[in-house]
Order: sequence, then C-alpha cells, then structure tokens
Amino acid sequence: MTVSPPPGYDGPSLADLAADVSTDSDETLSVSAPFTGETVGNVPACTPADVRGAAERARETQQSWSDRPVGERAATIERFASLVEDSRGDLLDLIQIESGKARLDAHEEVLDVVATTSYYADRAAEYLTPERKAGVVPLLTSVHKHRDPYGVVGFITPWNYPLTLAVSDALPALLAGNAVLVKPAEETPHTALFVARLLREAGVPEDCFRVLPGEGKRLGEPLVESVDAVSFTGSTAVGREVAAQAGRELVPATLELGGNGPIVVREDAPLGRTVTGAVRGGFASAGQLCIATERIYVHESRYDVFCDRLVERVRNLDLGANFEYSTDVGSLISETQLSKVQSHVDEAVEAGATLLTGGRHRPDVGPLAYEPTVLTDVPDDTAVACEETFGPVVTVTPVEDDEDALARANDDPYGLHGSVWTGDPATGKSVARELDCGTVCVNDAYISMWASTGAPMGGRNDSGIGRRHGDEGFQKYTETQSVAVQRGHPIAPPAGVPNRVVAATLSAYLRLTRAVGLR
Ligand code: NAD
Repeated sequence: MTVSPPPGYDGPSLADLAADVSTDSDETLSVSAPFTGETVGNVPACTPADVRGAAERARETQQSWSDRPVGERAATIERFASLVEDSRGDLLDLIQIESGKARLDAHEEVLDVVATTSYYADRAAEYLTPERKAGVVPLLTSVHKHRDPYGVVGFITPWNYPLTLAVSDALPALLAGNAVLVKPAEETPHTALFVARLLREAGVPEDCFRVLPGEGKRLGEPLVESVDAVSFTGSTAVGREVAAQAGRELVPATLELGGNGPIVVREDAPLGRTVTGAVRGGFASAGQLCIATERIYVHESRYDVFCDRLVERVRNLDLGANFEYSTDVGSLISETQLSKVQSHVDEAVEAGATLLTGGRHRPDVGPLAYEPTVLTDVPDDTAVACEETFGPVVTVTPVEDDEDALARANDDPYGLHGSVWTGDPATGKSVARELDCGTVCVNDAYISMWASTGAPMGGRNDSGIGRRHGDEGFQKYTETQSVAVQRGHPIAPPAGVPNRVVAATLSAYLRLTRAVGLR
C-alpha cells in the first residue's frame, strides 16, 4: 500500500510543505506514516533562535493585523474556512498519513475547523465592542471595558488531532488581533504547515501564523519566554512544566490536558443507543482522544446484557490502516503508544482482569494496529483503571446505583469529560451535574458537546486550566482595559474640607447607593 500520498491527493507535496519552514538549521524531524511505518517526510527542525526570531517578526506584523477592522479579519478567516472545505480531501489524506486515524475520524477534524471558524467569525465584532459599565457616581462617572489582543500567542499542540488542534483554538486568537506561533507535535508537522498555507492564501500575513516544527523539550522554553500568552494542549506531565514556566514568565496559560473518561450507564438506559455511544466514545481515533470513554460503569442489573452487546459490536468493528471510509478504527500513532496500550492491557490481565475481546497487536493489519479491546473485572490499582490509556481500550465495571457509579467515576485525578446514559434525561442531567468533569454529555458520547461551540470546554483537576469554545474561548486571547471618565470635580478631598468630613460623606454615599440598589 502506498501512503505518501494516496491516489487522488492533489495538495502540496510533503517536501514542498517542509520547505515552508523558516530556519538555517540543517537538523530535521523524520515523520513516519503509522499505516506502514515508512518515513514519509523530513521536516526542518527549528532551533530556539528560530523561535525567538519568529516571535520578533510576529510582534512587528501583529500591530498591522490588529489595526485591520475586525470585519476584515473575520472575512479573511471565513475565506480560510472555505479553503479548508475546498481542500477537504487533501486534508483528510494528510491527517491520515501523519496520524494513522480512520477517515471518518479525520473528517470530524475538518468539520470542527469550519464550524469553529463560523462561530467566532460571526461573533468577533461583538466581543471586541467596548462595553459600558456602571460608574461609581451615576451621570458623573462613565466607564467602558475594552478588549485588546495580548500580542503574540504561542500554541503547543499534540498529534492526536493534528488539524483541529493546530488551528481551531488559534482562530479566535487571530480574530482578536493576535499573531500566532504554533509548535506542532513532532509526529504531525505537515498538517500544521498545510494549515499555515491555507491561512496565507486566505490573507493572513505570513508572520502572523508561523509553524515551528521541532522538539518540544527544546522549543517549549524559548516559546513560552517569547510570547504574551500560551495555549498548551497535551499530556498532564508536560502541561505542568509549561504552567511552571508560564508562571515564571507571568504569561497567562491555558492548559488542555489528559483525561480518563468515565461513563455512567443507568438502570433505565436504552441499551442499543448506549452501546453505540460507548463504541464511538471508546474507539474514535483508536481511543487516542482526550475526551474518549475509558471507564464504563453499568448498573448491575444491566451489566451482563450490556457486556454481551458491547462485545458483539466491538468484534464487528473494522480495524484498518487505509484511506477508506469503511474502516472504523485506525492505527495507533507510534511504537510508544503501542507499547503503552499493550502494557496497560497485559498488566490488567495479569492482575486478574478478564479480556472480553481484543487485546492483541495486529501487525497483519498495520505495524501499529491494535484490536479494540474490552476488559472487565479490572483491579482498581492497575494502570488501565487509574491512568489515561489513550488507546482503543475500555473497562466495564458493574455498580449498585448512581451513587456508587459517581463515587467510582469521580475517584480519579482527572476531570475532563464524561457521559451519562439513561431513559430519563432530567435525572441524567442531575447525575451529570455530580460528575466532576469540565463537560458531560447525556445520551451522547462527546460530539454533541464538542460541536456545540457556544459552550465552554476544558478540564477540571489534572485535566487542565482554562476553557476553549464559547465566550471564554475568545476572551482568553484578550486582556481588558477599563477606562473611567469622571465629570466635574475628581473624587478626591476638595481643598479646605477636613478628611473626617470627606470620609463621612463617602460612607453616607455608599449607604445611599446600597439602599437604592445602585451597587
Ligand atoms: P505531549 O504532552 O507529549 O506533547 C504535546 C506537545 O508538547 C507536543 O508538541 C510536544 O512536542 C510538546 N512538548 C513536549 N515536551 C515539552 C516541554 N518540555 N515543553 C514544552 N512542550 C513540550 O502530549 P502528546 O503525547 O502529544 O498528546 C497526548 C496527550 O494530549 C494526551 O494526554 C491527551 O489526553 C492530551 N490531549 C488533551 C486534549 C484536551 O483538549 N484536553 C486534546 C488532545 C490531547
């Protein structure tokens, strides 16, 4: 099978994309295709000096980008969305070449970018319109809140959603008037470079969206030092390092980190739909999804039938390493991921877990293909139970009632996303409110939440700090400036009036405004 690129690919060659990287370094990153393991490209690896240089150029260009009327920036970003739609087939090929995911999973990324663009392009002008606030002395104090871009925002992104995570969070930053520098994952730089091309073609100045491929541990520090705000998406361990550095530099940081997604299957859950959702939640992008389902808690009265039906569906999933829509589950990204998934499953089985289906590496399908796997009787202290596996593996555990399910689901350091399955949506919503996660779906795995762009998403606890989507997803790329204009005498002791009188007058004024509801 050929992976580089498949027949019908009409986009830029991978070598051509690599040539867009601006560096004098002769070091390279070798990029391989998970479907075959073959090397598909060598991308120049940026140096810390490249990062600092790119930040300087971004800073010089950012002002003219931010001076453009917001409507003009929105029109540019809308053009980008149209180019993404026009290039959909090529983007899907590229995402699949670099990440090894199934085509339907890659398709979700394209949909996400287009939907996010429209959402923020439609609202950018409103977000940036100065807001009038109540002044301390009615009629005499007029106050407005303004929003300014930070300047240059740095993004450090993972490999699992190479299109979405390289650009969807950056779109509101650009719309707010910032310049953006992206350090993509080592495994997937070409997709980010293709995005940069499309943004340029749409009219975003080259230095306002730069992709800086290279090693995270080498480029992370110079990036955080050079920018005015940071958005990190990746593992909790690296997120802590980025947060510490952002703390030293006093730059705001958003951290979108790992998860160990729980789902609660109530006694009244409609099993057909619940199993469909559990399969999507557990095996989309071969489980390499931060908001994936990893732990399933099922009411004990439905446990046996749920397991039977889940296993039947999982056994019928088409595991593949190809560009066809017929494949349900694609490859893992790397040997590192494969050995992590394999060790989590093997350790659980050795500790007494029951393997209901899967549990095997499938080199006959692809070098990094791993069977969709269902485990039960999993001891609580095994890695698969208490850590993020980030692979096509779910565990199923019987529970006595909602309380038991919630106690188990919340007994976890993460808090990213979960779901509740029930025939009674109102109770489902109450149970959802008790799950200690930043987002929860009732009767859906994750898409109804992710694709509802108006609602903020992000993690609690070890899953991160900050939110994407919704108003928060735009506002975090701006800092406010409030301006108060006072008419008449300034609020200061008038000449010749004793301070005691001034203090008494101010207290009386505060009492009056509280009494008439002006505070
Ligand atoms: P990772 O943390 O290893 O790498 C993420 C990025 O950080 C990469 O670009 C990497 O080069 C860079 N990096 C590595 N070391 C660094 C350092 N010392 N300083 C600065 N940057 C550094 O994560 P990964 O393996 O690429 O991605 C998988 C993880 O990402 C999973 O834990 C997953 O849950 C998480 N994730 C979270 C979300 C979310 O929205 N919460 C979304 C996708 C993935």
